[in-house]
Order: sequence, then structure tokens, then C-alpha cells
Amino acid sequence: MKSVDRHLTDILATVQPLAPLEVDLERAHGTVLAEDVASPVALPPFDNSAMDGYAVRAADVAGAPVVLPVIEDVAAGDSELRAMGPGMVTRIMTGAPVPAGADAVVPVEWTDGGTVRVTVHRPAPAGNAIRRAGEDVHAGEIVLREGSVIGPAQLGILAGVGRRRVLVRPRPRVVVISTGAELAEPGTSLGHGQIWESNSFMLAAAVQEAGGEVFRAGAVTDDPQRFLSALEAQLVRADAVITSGGVSMGAYEPVKEALAPLGKVVFEKVAMQPGMPQGFGVVGDDDVPIFTLPGNPVSSFVSFVLFVEPALRKMRGLPEGPPRTVRATTTAYLRSPAGKRSYLRAVLSGETVAPVVGQGSHQLAALASANALVVVPEEVTELPEGAEVEVIPL
Ligand code: AMP
Ligand code: MG
Repeated sequence: MKSVDRHLTDILATVQPLAPLEVDLERAHGTVLAEDVASPVALPPFDNSAMDGYAVRAADVAGAPVVLPVIEDVAAGDSELRAMGPGMVTRIMTGAPVPAGADAVVPVEWTDGGTVRVTVHRPAPAGNAIRRAGEDVHAGEIVLREGSVIGPAQLGILAGVGRRRVLVRPRPRVVVISTGAELAEPGTSLGHGQIWESNSFMLAAAVQEAGGEVFRAGAVTDDPQRFLSALEAQLVRADAVITSGGVSMGAYEPVKEALAPLGKVVFEKVAMQPGMPQGFGVVGDDDVPIFTLPGNPVSSFVSFVLFVEPALRKMRGLPEGPPRTVRATTTAYLRSPAGKRSYLRAVLSGETVAPVVGQGSHQLAALASANALVVVPEEVTELPEGAEVEVIPL
């Protein structure tokens, strides 16, 4: 049997980072920056008020309380070049440019709020409540580096430096196809021998959480020809394909039957539990990577975490490697098959990890109650309560 590590290495040797392309900001969320972004101007671009209040000369309010004449108002967005002489004040709003001649802002709370004359109750030091030009970013400064994942704050600074379009590695477009003659769409009634199709919903969400854009193709039956036509119909929009089911050792295994003869997808046994039957390769004229995951829901899920998510990271241009793990102490005795690396569903809380009841690869409810996978190495068959274990947080 092939090792988990070897299978991931083979996958990562095949998948490549997606080519960068320029997108509008609206399309940039969740993508990975493919250029260094510098600000064309200083931020803030001009000295402006940090508060609603009065622009003053600090020297004029040093002897507060004082009464001073208000010459005019300046609001945010004001485009006049304003100036004021000694002994005068300008009423100013947050974000408005500080008039020439003023060197401090007195917050309205320190005054009587007057509009013709204002009584200032407290002195303000020079520079008070003024946001200086360039305090956040200097003109020409790099604000985001290539390789940054663009989340909300990163979108904020891109827009904040005036970018409309940006060079990114896009979210990988991933098609999810489930197979199985027994599968009924949720929301329909179940006939005898049927179960509701769950893998495509689970895998689609996993793709989105991993930064991909997903097309859920829904379920096809166990006819290899129907599977192939469903696959071909979807290939045009795919950077990667995930299938579930139809790859094990039985009869009626449509994914294996359809793809094995093409010679570019390898079906093999990986020394892991759950998830032993795996397939990976490429399909179509463009050699689109395809992950043919086993159908048991927990197997499908664990296979996604171990193999598909790292591949999507590489496609996005992020550093490659296996899933991140932490160390924790098990609260229960654990068993694991010899020769296979097992991934037990568990609840991680702080430094301890508790395996959940129901470790069967069909036990989806147990999976849904877990937030971590305990990794038990191939050569280990049992672990006492209190043993230190490696854990993949989900
Ligand atoms: P297979 O890998 O096709 O042999 O399927 C293994 C087990 O997983 C069978 O019990 C299937 O009914 C179940 N299964 C396969 N695909 C799905 C799916 N999309 N949703 C829920 N269960 C599935
Ligand atoms: Mg099946």
C-alpha cells in the first residue's frame, strides 16, 4: 500500500499554481495577491482633523478658558484652500483638511459648541487631534506583498490606496460530482435502498472554505458513460475536479471504470483509515487534476483534508505542505489498525482531545460533532489514555 505522505507528494508534484490574472476589487476577495502593491500617495494625503471640534492656534487657547470668534466651517470633503489668522478659529469636522495657520484641534466636548463665538474650556497642545499626512503610509510605500491572501482588511487597504484592479492568483474553480445509484437529492423522499446525497454539499463547502470557487454538479448514477458525459460537460469550467464514490473494489464502480482505461488517473490503496481507496490524475485536453475520493462520507471528508486542501493551497500560490497539526493529550484509550495511519474524529479542547463515539467511515453525525482528527501512526495499534498525540484541527 502507498503511504499517505507519498500520495500527497505525488499530488503536489502534479498540481501547479494557477496563472495570475487581473481582476476588479469586487472579484478579489479570497484570491492571493500576485504583485507587490504600493501606494501612489501618502495616507492620509493631507493633515486632517481626528475629531469634530475647532481648528485653533495652540497659543490662542493656552490661557483657557478663552472666547474666540468662529470665522467659518470646514467639513470633510471641503476642497477650498483655507487659512486663518491669529486669534481666530474654524469649526472643523472629522476628516476635514486642517486650515493653514491652525496647529491644533480642540474637540467640541471641550467647548460650548458656539458657531459665532466659541468658549474653549481647556487648552490643547500643538498637534492635538490632527492626523498628519503620511502617518499611515508614505508615498511609494508597499502596503501588501505578493502572496498575501486577500481578506476584508486587505481589500480595505487596496481600495484605500486607490486600486480598482489587482493582479491575483484566482480562487481555483472546482467541480464536485457525486456518484451512486442509491443517492437521492435531499428534500425528496427516500425509496427503499436509497440514502440522501450528502457528499457533494459537504465537499462543496470544504472547497469554499479552502478558498476555491465551487460548482456542485450533483449526483450521477453508477453508469460509467453517464459519469463521463457529466464530467466532460463540467470540464470547461474546472481547474480541478473532485468526485466521490465509485472507486472501491466492488462492481458498479463508475469512476474507476470510466477513468482507468484513459490511463491518466491512477487508482490505488493508500495506507490510511478511513479512506483507503484513492485515485488521482488528470483529465481532458488541459490535464485538469482530478481527485477521485471514496464514497463513504467520512472517508471523503478526511481525504479532502489530507489531499485536496493542500493541493488547493498550492494552486492558490500559497506555501505547500501537509495539514497543520498540534499536540494534545488523549482523554481515552485509542485503537488503530496496524499498517495504516488512522484519523480518528475527536473533540479538541485546549490541550486535551477526546475521540467521539462512532468511528465508522459512514458515521456522518459523529463527524459533525468533531472538530479535530487524531493522527495515529501506521505502526501504533493502541495508545493509553493520557498519551500525547498529533491532532489536525478542523
Ligand atoms: P462507494 O465508494 O461508491 O462504494 O460508496 C461507499 C459508501 O458511501 C456507500 O455506502 C455509499 O452509499 C456511500 N456514499 C457514496 N456516495 C455518497 C454520497 N454522495 N453521499 C452520501 N453517501 C455516499
Ligand atoms: Mg457507489
